[in-house]
Amino acid sequence: MRFTLAALGLAWCLAACGSDSGPVTIHVFGLDPSTQRYGYYDARLSTLTDATQMRGQVVAMRGGATIVVDAVAASSSDNPAQTLLAEGGSTPSCDFSAQSGVLYPNDFDSLAMASSYAAIERARALYRSLGVVDSELNTINAYYNPNIQALTKLVPTFWYMTDNAAYAAPFDGMLIVPQLILQDVPFEMNLGVMGHEYGHKVHNHLVDLDASNPHWNADHWSTGAANQYRGIDEGLADIFGGTLAGDSNYIEPSIAHAGDLGIDRDMAKVRVIDSCQTGLALGQSSSCSEPDGGSIGFDPHVTGAYVASTLWQLGLDQGDHQAVAQAVIDTERALGSEIRAATPAAYDYGIVPWWNHFLAQEVAQPGGVADLCTMIQARFAVLLATEAPNGHHLDPTLCPGAP
Ligand SMILES: [Zn+2]
Repeated sequence: MRFTLAALGLAWCLAACGSDSGPVTIHVFGLDPSTQRYGYYDARLSTLTDATQMRGQVVAMRGGATIVVDAVAASSSDNPAQTLLAEGGSTPSCDFSAQSGVLYPNDFDSLAMASSYAAIERARALYRSLGVVDSELNTINAYYNPNIQALTKLVPTFWYMTDNAAYAAPFDGMLIVPQLILQDVPFEMNLGVMGHEYGHKVHNHLVDLDASNPHWNADHWSTGAANQYRGIDEGLADIFGGTLAGDSNYIEPSIAHAGDLGIDRDMAKVRVIDSCQTGLALGQSSSCSEPDGGSIGFDPHVTGAYVASTLWQLGLDQGDHQAVAQAVIDTERALGSEIRAATPAAYDYGIVPWWNHFLAQEVAQPGGVADLCTMIQARFAVLLATEAPNGHHLDPTLCPGAP
């Protein structure tokens, strides 16, 4: 695999200057759909346009790019579209050997990019099955092993980000970085993780209307509204990742042997929000003490885990996680319409209003919403009590008798 400039591209040209490969079958690493275990399997990449450049309808890989985190620009602008940039890079030149109609990667980078493409394509298929049609979702760039440049362009400081994965709305791109510390399934090959990250893109499209500068930031929402927005975004992304992987703890295959990283996201765990996490989510405190004596600050993943575990339990109760994911998508569409129509600075976002939107989607489900109302009241009692003076209540027409 090489990242090739056109002027140096003789070898690349010999390999790739014919017609595009179109859809192909590649021997990738990922969650094997026939066994539901991680391993090698043959994936048909049905949206692929060109295997050598690893680009297609869903995603186009780019190597050698620089992600600029411009601290100087950030001092005069709070618009991440101006301070977080993806620059440069080129199409990769992935290398495969064909055997019996299947392409086998000849190096790790080709394997990683093909495996990641397969996972992102399966994520896109999930969202398509939930009614997010192709015309709504453009092809995104995935930046493979980018440099990260921080501080200022005048005195650039580079480093490599490792052991992570991300979707970045400011440049509508996916970051795929080396897994150097963790020795388990690389994040870019973890189906649930790619489903989670793509879920951020879908959320950005449906709720944030494709904004490169999120509305909570551009329109100066309150800290509480912004925190809850970011938390719900993380929780919903977990629901999609878990639904796609069929696993409430889909991150685990990537961190199983890493010791305690403080990642506590298994959606099967019953989670009841306490006064500490309520204060952080509502922006009433910037840190608080936990029962074990530690001091913690706001983390959207932690806030989101309360929403995600409740939705996961709902999926178990209904015997249908896909139906819950569908209601989440419908809720995201409804919220996008509301945000579009709202007076921006006055928009009052929160977990309780979000539940009301979701309950409205769920009301047509067999059994209605009574059990869900009971579960929300039990798990969010402290938040509901704290939010009551702010005028945030569960809708009494949907949850009769709710406080
Ligand atoms: Zn996330």
